[in-house]
Amino acid sequence: MSDSKPHIVIGGSIIGLAIGWHLLREGAEHVVIFEAGEAARSGAAWVAAGMLSPRAEAGFEDMDIYEDGVKSLDLYPQFLDELREDVEELVPKLDRSGALVVATNGDEARELDRQFDFRKRANIPVERLSGEATREREPLLSTKVTSSLWLEQEAQINNRQLCLALKAAFVKLGGVLQEHCMVSEIVVKDHRAVAVRFGNESMEAQSITIAAGAWSSKIGGITPIPVRPVKGQMIGLRMTPQSHLRQPIRGARVYLAPKDDGRLLVGATAEEAGFDQRIIAGNIMELLHFAWEIVPATYELEIEEMLAGFRPATRNHRPIIGKSEFENLYYATGHWRHGILMAPLTSYEICREILGLKQEKVGI
Ligand SMILES: Cc1cc2nc3c(=O)[nH]c(=O)nc-3n(C[C@H](O)[C@H](O)[C@H](O)COP(=O)(O)OP(=O)(O)OC[C@H]3O[C@@H](n4cnc5c(N)ncnc54)[C@H](O)[C@@H]3O)c2cc1C
Repeated sequence: MSDSKPHIVIGGSIIGLAIGWHLLREGAEHVVIFEAGEAARSGAAWVAAGMLSPRAEAGFEDMDIYEDGVKSLDLYPQFLDELREDVEELVPKLDRSGALVVATNGDEARELDRQFDFRKRANIPVERLSGEATREREPLLSTKVTSSLWLEQEAQINNRQLCLALKAAFVKLGGVLQEHCMVSEIVVKDHRAVAVRFGNESMEAQSITIAAGAWSSKIGGITPIPVRPVKGQMIGLRMTPQSHLRQPIRGARVYLAPKDDGRLLVGATAEEAGFDQRIIAGNIMELLHFAWEIVPATYELEIEEMLAGFRPATRNHRPIIGKSEFENLYYATGHWRHGILMAPLTSYEICREILGLKQEKVGI
């Protein structure tokens, strides 16, 4: 029997939009996304660097995060092909330019040795390059760069364009966007999530998915979801033809991600500062200084924007994805610094669970 109530998604950023769009593609009749600000533009996904970098980010104690990251990156071509079927001209390219992790002193070089050994033992494809070989890959690097790790299989994407494409695809397939509309509470009856409350109104739901990023813990009516904001300040520089980096560069204290629209993103701080949105001079000064040490040409570039965003962090940095303790209520949050990377895997998985589809039906 078909249920005419909508599937409701709370949060209209990368994760919420990807889920909403997939639900419609897989035959859901009625999907509503509630977004407290402007869909695509109000979350961390708009501030993010768009690096799809499970191999560079792999940590000794986080191997399952790494494995899910690789799985999600492998799903990206299919995810973008499907998106192209709906909004062809808007879909960004997957940039498979690889990534360099560079060292500028002895301590950093020893740390790269350690990271290299770990990746070799874990069968993660990686090369150890000399300073000279590193500058052959990226001529704009400073002579202070003494060595690097080269991760050929890393990728990146224009995350802003991706969010806008997902938003357009969702609307094109008949999804309803309720923008500037903050959900305050989930209404639970007999252990079943039945509706959402916003302002003085409520809407009944067939299913409810919380994809509200760092704000997920603020939604009332249920046990608070253990997600906290970790602030990241980011600078957008405008590259010139002479200062166009070939691939993302990661240093010990800064990264530089060149986007195909000419922006060079320099980031990012990681601060336990609650939802403090201020841009702080000292942090910006340090990021620019560290970036200049690695790529001297940044000194000449125009600053186009400075932003702060909130990574949705859990205690162990693992996302919270899947069915909640209440019937009809799903979580898709806590993606920490990997939400752009994880959008394909999370959206396929959640969509499959909500619609009760078999594994092979949706993506994976
Ligand atoms: C500086 C920085 C750099 C990053 N770089 C990368 C990177 O290179 N690669 C990568 O993979 N990830 C990166 N990330 C992480 C990535 O941005 C996040 O993991 C991702 O945005 C999480 O997506 P989300 O949709 O869950 O949350 P968000 O993008 O934060 O969106 C949550 C949305 O929910 C809305 N919302 C919140 N509460 C409510 C409510 N009650 N009702 C309605 N709407 C609500 C918000 O307005 C917002 O639009 C970075 C993050 C930062 C801050």
